[in-house]
Amino acid sequence: GTGTNIRTWFEGAWHEGDAPVMRAGDHGMWLGSAVFDGARLAHGVVPDLDLHCARVNASARALMLEPTVDASDMVEIIREGLRAYAPGSAVYIRPMYWGQDTGYMAIVPDSASVGFAICLEEVPMPPEGASTTLTRTRFRRPVMEDAVVNAKAACLYPNNARMLAEARAKGFGNVLCADAIGNVAESATANAFMVKDGEVFTPAPNGTFLAGITRARHIANLRADGITVHETVLSFDDFHGADEVFLTGNMAKVTPVTAFDDTSYQIGPVTRRARELYWDWAASSPL
Ligand code: PMP
Repeated sequence: GTGTNIRTWFEGAWHEGDAPVMRAGDHGMWLGSAVFDGARLAHGVVPDLDLHCARVNASARALMLEPTVDASDMVEIIREGLRAYAPGSAVYIRPMYWGQDTGYMAIVPDSASVGFAICLEEVPMPPEGASTTLTRTRFRRPVMEDAVVNAKAACLYPNNARMLAEARAKGFGNVLCADAIGNVAESATANAFMVKDGEVFTPAPNGTFLAGITRARHIANLRADGITVHETVLSFDDFHGADEVFLTGNMAKVTPVTAFDDTSYQIGPVTRRARELYWDWAASSPL
């Protein structure tokens, strides 16, 4: 990991440091059967931890790996692992499954030979007021027939990596990428929202991009606050015409966007409200 104070859950116990958990012969190592999820301890809470644990199990099943840890047990294991960190720590939480040695040369993983680990590491929250910029990318999200887009699978991320590398080479922080038919899907690391005339718009899930847990939480919070949220088809021109744009994901929760290629945005009232609503909700949600 990239953080500090790393702890690893592996084979039924917490270990200090980044434990060597994968073998050269593991299916996940050479044939890509690996899934993960990301949650976060920040401001003393772990928003939607139960949903992140349930999703990593669903991701494993999508790659034909039988999950070995109940989602509710996983929540308890993570709570225990987090007790080692000082109050106020910001910790990134990554549960992972992967196919282990199948014992023979097999493309299909052995559904019963499954590794599980959790990596905890201290990774600071981005500073208040941190924002990003977006550029359009020629790389697209695959559809179900191209890749296992119904899983948060490691093998999907090289595509996101080349999007991000290209964006950074052009001086932008992230991308807006298209789905297979050319409508806006998401960024390389988070879901995309735009605001127009006080109403919120975000791409409707269409099986090509990760409809995130943080995305769903923001939609619920905004609607409960009386703000209209449309999940719909959005073009890149729609984003160029927006009043505000923001990204949502477990890492930063909400990130204001100040530019999309040659279009600039102010950090506006709806983006600020989304952040406020998120942390108000999180503070009252059980760890
Ligand atoms: N899209 C992609 C490609 C991501 O990697 C993430 C981060 N997990 C998200 C969206 C946001 O999802 P979530 O809110 O569930 O973290």
